[in-house]
Amino acid sequence: MTTRSETQTTLDHLLTEIEHRNPAQPEFHQAAHEVLETLAPVVAARPEYAEPGLIERLVEPERQVIFRVPWQDDQGRVRVNRGFRVEFNSALGPYKGGLRFHPSVNLGVIKFLGFEQIFKNALTGLGIGGGKGGSDFDPHGRSDAEVMRFCQSFMTELYRHIGEHTDVPAGDIGVGGREIGYLFGQYRRITNRWEAGVLTGKGQGWGGSLIRPEATGYGNVLFAAAMLRERGEDLEGQTAVVSGSGNVAIYTIEKLTALGANAVTCSDSSGYVVDEKGIDLDLLKQIKEVERGRVDAYAERRGASARFVPGGRVWDVPADLALPSATQNELDENDAATLIRNGVKAVSEGANMPTTPEAVHLLQQAGVAFGPGKAANAGGVAVSALEMAQNHARTSWTAARVEEELADIMTSIHTTCHETAERYDAPGDYVTGANIAGFERVADAMLAQGVI
Ligand code: GLU
Repeated sequence: MTTRSETQTTLDHLLTEIEHRNPAQPEFHQAAHEVLETLAPVVAARPEYAEPGLIERLVEPERQVIFRVPWQDDQGRVRVNRGFRVEFNSALGPYKGGLRFHPSVNLGVIKFLGFEQIFKNALTGLGIGGGKGGSDFDPHGRSDAEVMRFCQSFMTELYRHIGEHTDVPAGDIGVGGREIGYLFGQYRRITNRWEAGVLTGKGQGWGGSLIRPEATGYGNVLFAAAMLRERGEDLEGQTAVVSGSGNVAIYTIEKLTALGANAVTCSDSSGYVVDEKGIDLDLLKQIKEVERGRVDAYAERRGASARFVPGGRVWDVPADLALPSATQNELDENDAATLIRNGVKAVSEGANMPTTPEAVHLLQQAGVAFGPGKAANAGGVAVSALEMAQNHARTSWTAARVEEELADIMTSIHTTCHETAERYDAPGDYVTGANIAGFERVADAMLAQGVI
């Protein structure tokens, strides 16, 4: 029987090899570290997982596609971006995961997101593998026509790699309902197929699921509520800081408010807004979703209760709960120390990997309940899988039914993570619980399906 420390040494060697074989991909290294650091107990306890090649296969994407995306701007100038789709693991179902359009996108970022997605999707209990894609295209300040031409060019290459039984993209940062519409239109035109299940996050009326736009934010709040319940508390009357002002942040604020908490912040890359009375969602939605503006406009129009802090960090605002919902590594060690000093009780990740590893350790050491993104933000992709189910059946469910399923899935993810952590001597450690539970499901399927 191998001990945990011998197993950890083997995993550490593997991590060094991963860094070597994937140079200049710090986000992917970080995501791999975060998972492999927690697997020693399960690999030591179950010898089949120590089988040579299993974890080596898990950290190597099944397929990676990189392509040129040429398009013309409104002045007729040709622009060239880079497109990516990383099909990481399909042991549990078709590759599933969003597309991110943001200037920071590169292969390492897409690999980190795709790797996270494998475990997140496994935790939902549904039949979806892990993948991710995107482009370094910056939609900010681009006209609708430019965004459309970009999406059409992107899909002109991507279509040959995807399909409802193969790989099903969706949205992520910079890709919302508008982009999914343009992408779907081009897919339909090229293939001459009405294949609704090839993309999720579609519009209502042409195959989209009710509650899909809300699902990531709603799900994260339900996960935070479950963590609080474990400690004999609920959301009622709690003050919450939320970062970001995109889809995840907006619906996080909406659900927090509905459940009696006071969500007092939102942010974008220019700074943050703090509103003592709680964020006015109608105003925020108008500015972000209709006008596609910046958060300082919110403070200008809201009146005395709100102020805009240029360049500031939302984590400086004292709160009981923190829900990072913007982007990776947005909450570091210093921020964690500030949150702890201000008495934070729970941190739940709406974005993917928003908390740095040092910050996670600090929060856990201080006894703060910490919900990792793979578990806490899995509601979005879970409802995507429900959208696929509705598309296959050529039907659509009521909002109440989708919301009920989402609530059941989030409760079950919470229970799985909690129980798995206890089983492996890490009570209350949702990071370990999520990683091990996700890993077990994928690893069992990979072992059963042979060396492929
Ligand atoms: N981009 C989302 C995520 O990070 C959703 C993916 C999907 O719906 O496929 O999980």
